[in-house]
Amino acid sequence: MNAEIIDTHCHLNMVQQAGISIEEAFANAKAAGVTSAVLIAVDEESARYHADLVQKKSTPGLQLLWTAGLHPEGADNVSGLQTLFAFVRESRDRLDFLGIGETGLDYYHSTEFVNNQKESFRAHLELSVELQLPIIVHLRDSQKFEPGKIQSVNDAAAMVRETKARGVLHCFTYGYEEAMRFVDMGWFISFSGILTYKNAQVIQDAAARLPLECILVETDAPFLTPNPVRGKPNQPAYTVHTAKFLADLRSKANGEDPDQVLAQIHQNSERFFALKK
Ligand SMILES: [Zn+2]
Repeated sequence: MNAEIIDTHCHLNMVQQAGISIEEAFANAKAAGVTSAVLIAVDEESARYHADLVQKKSTPGLQLLWTAGLHPEGADNVSGLQTLFAFVRESRDRLDFLGIGETGLDYYHSTEFVNNQKESFRAHLELSVELQLPIIVHLRDSQKFEPGKIQSVNDAAAMVRETKARGVLHCFTYGYEEAMRFVDMGWFISFSGILTYKNAQVIQDAAARLPLECILVETDAPFLTPNPVRGKPNQPAYTVHTAKFLADLRSKANGEDPDQVLAQIHQNSERFFALKK
């Protein structure tokens, strides 16, 4: 398999903090067949860091895109959104600027700031619709997966339906039904290294059953390193492990040709990028 692979979600600033230099990460990514990486912001500082990096570094053979947004865990302080959104407007037409994120809802540690998170998420959704940019959404709940009791998915689906925003659920950790609620609204579903873990049957079932045309892959580096390299800090090059796992999974479940699965995921990433009008 030597398909072209795209890492649709990595935090390069944090990869560097985890001890992998930018040069090393780029060289490894290219050697592994990764042709594009999307550098995802969690706040204004990381967005500006990636914006500068992409402008300064020339990386032939590796396309770099970046985003700007406020992670839900930082949404207890929504007052910073104004300057962040001004930066988004100013960057809108840069060719290397992809879209808005990551934003979303995270009820894992505490639900104390749910209202702030919702206010921030709604503002991101509205901006993405106004500027015709894709949105990258993070969802997490306080409990282990319990079908029918998934609060952040319900809340997010309602808000997406109202605003008609288009984007991706990144690092998907729910089941088929939850994913389909977003797929039916034209969304993409992105799988991280979690897909390769032993206890991930519900996620694997979703990855096998979902329409192939909605699927993306990512690292979320430096977190969530896939098997068989689990234990090391994650980096964009490791997208190939998740992509190949997914291709094998669908080959076993549906008889799909693994190379064709990888080619389709690549096409999906291009369609995701093209949500920016
Ligand atoms: Zn992330």
